[in-house]
Amino acid sequence: MENTFDMLIIGSGPAGLGAALYAARAGLNAAIVEKNPVSGGQIINTTEVDNYLGLPGIGGYEMGETFRAHVEKMGAVFIEDTISSVKSSDGLYVAEGVSGTYTSKTIVFAMGAERSRLGIPGESEYVGRGVSYCATCDGAFFRKKDTVVIGGGDVAVEDAIYLAGLCEHVTLVHRRDELRASVSLQNALLSRENVTVEWNSVAEEVIGEGKVTALKIRNKETGETKEIPASGVFIAVGMDPVSELAKGVCDLNERGYIIAGEDCVTSAPGVYAAGDIRTKHLRQVITAVADGACAVSSAEVYIRTL
Ligand code: NAP
Repeated sequence: MENTFDMLIIGSGPAGLGAALYAARAGLNAAIVEKNPVSGGQIINTTEVDNYLGLPGIGGYEMGETFRAHVEKMGAVFIEDTISSVKSSDGLYVAEGVSGTYTSKTIVFAMGAERSRLGIPGESEYVGRGVSYCATCDGAFFRKKDTVVIGGGDVAVEDAIYLAGLCEHVTLVHRRDELRASVSLQNALLSRENVTVEWNSVAEEVIGEGKVTALKIRNKETGETKEIPASGVFIAVGMDPVSELAKGVCDLNERGYIIAGEDCVTSAPGVYAAGDIRTKHLRQVITAVADGACAVSSAEVYIRTL
């Protein structure tokens, strides 16, 4: 395979696929590198996506497949590889993968974000034995059992609603007295009879014996602690960018997001950041796809100057 490109897109979530679509249409010699051939990024773990224009209620996995099929039809080149480093060399960028080395005039970082860890005792110990970061992936293991979800954003509330359909009882533990999640999700959650919310409460420890048996929480107002018996603890307290590869290539902010505006231009010439990995106000599928288009538009201008 030709290993020198106009554009190397790293990551095949909505941002990377959006970039691949626009690169193909622009006639660029581009390739999209993905760790495995299941495209879609975070959305493949989402049961239903209801806020993408024209595809109401589509399943997350189906959405990833639909996006990929469109991009493949446009002639995009997919490479299955895991990139371990990106370095600049003689005005080009060299990406080292497990299966090959790729040289490109431009790079689009589109590796997205992953669930944050809480860092409480027992959390890492019980990952895969009751602690999970993905309700749609692991929820079925807790059918008819009691579970706890930690967090108050869209993901936590979506997870709690999904689990309420499978589990005996779900407790949502949130550190404040109001949820951050959208009002429609809040209404859907609070109408469930088998959901309880522990307000103003923080998780202190995951308790278990070989596998999870309870979550210890502390009420911030009263200082009281208690253990909620549960087989599963689902942690949904935000996201961290997957930006390790970009360190030393372009500037990141203090939380690890690549600093880039709506044009997706980073501090390094020829390097673009698209989707959840960049500094931005709204991290959604619809804005990630748009970023892919903007990154290619910016890169085309840069390539013409070479
Ligand atoms: P998020 O909106 O940042 O919410 C994180 C939640 O975790 C917040 O409620 C936060 O509490 C809580 N939290 C953070 N650190 C914590 C800690 N150390 N201990 C306890 N609680 C902690 O993150 P997200 O829910 O993962 O969503 C990520 C992005 O994806 C958001 O922009 C979201 O809107 C978007 N999203 C959208 C949809 C949709 O539109 N259907 C679905 C999923 C995700 P506080 O509220 O007190 O800060």
